[in-house]
Amino acid sequence: MPKQKVIIIGAGLAGSLLAIYLAKKGIEADVYESRGDMRKEETAAGRSINLALSNRGIAALKEIGLDEYMLAEAVPMHGRMIHAADGQTKLLPYSGRQGEYINSVSRAGLNVALIDEAEKYANVKFFFNERLADFDCKTGDARFESGKIVRGETLFATDGAGSKVRDAMLHGGVARFDFSQKWLEHGYKELHIPPGANGAFQMEKNALHIWARRQFMMIALPNANGSFTCTLFLAHTGETSFEQLTDEKSLLEFFEANFADAIPLMPTLIEDFFANPVGNLGTVKCFPWNVGGKSLLLGDAAHAVVPFYGQGMNASFEDCRVLNDLIERHGTNWKTVFDEFTNVRKENADAIAQMAEENFYEMRDAVADPVFVRKRELETKLEHEFPEYFSKYSMVTFREDLPYSVAKRKGNAQDKLLMEICAEVENVSEINLNEVIKKVKLI
Ligand SMILES: Cc1cc2nc3c(=O)[nH]c(=O)nc-3n(C[C@H](O)[C@H](O)[C@H](O)COP(=O)(O)OP(=O)(O)OC[C@H]3O[C@@H](n4cnc5c(N)ncnc54)[C@H](O)[C@@H]3O)c2cc1C
Repeated sequence: MPKQKVIIIGAGLAGSLLAIYLAKKGIEADVYESRGDMRKEETAAGRSINLALSNRGIAALKEIGLDEYMLAEAVPMHGRMIHAADGQTKLLPYSGRQGEYINSVSRAGLNVALIDEAEKYANVKFFFNERLADFDCKTGDARFESGKIVRGETLFATDGAGSKVRDAMLHGGVARFDFSQKWLEHGYKELHIPPGANGAFQMEKNALHIWARRQFMMIALPNANGSFTCTLFLAHTGETSFEQLTDEKSLLEFFEANFADAIPLMPTLIEDFFANPVGNLGTVKCFPWNVGGKSLLLGDAAHAVVPFYGQGMNASFEDCRVLNDLIERHGTNWKTVFDEFTNVRKENADAIAQMAEENFYEMRDAVADPVFVRKRELETKLEHEFPEYFSKYSMVTFREDLPYSVAKRKGNAQDKLLMEICAEVENVSEINLNEVIKKVKLI
């Protein structure tokens, strides 16, 4: 590999991981991050305190040797714990196979572990408090708010959903650049369930908790210290929305009507609700992702998705894994690597973007629909009985060997078939599994 020095913009999850992959190949990487060093100072609240890490992300961490460390810190979540309005709970497993579950990890913990790991390589340097102001698509110059101008053999834009590099491509840098940003009418707010006595979890520890209420929902993911981070997804405006919850009275009435079982677990509900911001949720799509061999968008900068499949970070880590394979094949012939990367990843990014939007409706509405609940039960039974069967959720979450686009196509056809079967029966025990699997195999 010829000696190369590249620039990475953004030391978030994708940028820090990418620096490690490149360093392992002997490529020198200078990483510029707008925030301060998160290991030394409190940074502003991130987009989510914890994240669901699953197979695609784990596969990348494994390649750089951080999988065991991160999984030791993680809390396994074996299924969705559905909280009905009357307080009853029901666990819907994520898979019918042993050992298939997702993992709740701390965003900051993971980011710090990646930065620490990257810094072990002499050829990686981090520059904090350096915000990119502009990228010159013709020369490859990156100009920072500090006045600094840098240029490497190439530049990787891992500067997240609001990417400045992408802005430069859109505003004249790349002819006929396709760009769309679609906001969800729902926003999100993080809330907190502290640990109980002696640090005990106050709800089932190994589950992702969901209070699905059709027009809105709340979820909670466990943290290793016994607490849960809750996220309330609610419309920004309208009859039932954040804009209506303006004081203690309206907030408590809303929670009593919809999340009564959670209130006793949330002693700081009122403080948290009025202190924490409402975040926006959206999908960003663009094309192309590269400026010849001069730069490449990667992670959320290329394809931000709504968080309902728990795949944004996992997909960003998969980006790094795919890129690494392409460098292995084509070396640092960046134009070839970037063109092929964009060709391979674009349809998969579009597929997970669509599935993530659809999963919002599944989590919000369908988990409260008896036909859907029967379908999940049937899928679990099929996975248990027939190891070669994978539900759409399992294909997306547990099959790092399967492109998202294949999971979407096959998964949608399976979903349609199984929903039809489950609409015909009152109980899953009435269904002949052998007959079902025969039909599934024809898809
Ligand atoms: C509420 C919520 C929940 C989520 N849950 C999950 C989940 O459970 N599982 C999952 O897989 N994904 C989840 N995601 C998605 C996940 O957070 C993102 O996909 C992931 O963070 C993308 O990584 P990234 O490195 O591309 O971007 P980011 O993590 O956003 O990192 C971008 C970095 O670039 C820096 N930066 C930005 N602008 C500049 C600039 N101009 N100059 C220099 N640096 C800059 C930022 O400070 C940041 O450090 C969730 C997202 C949200 C909003």
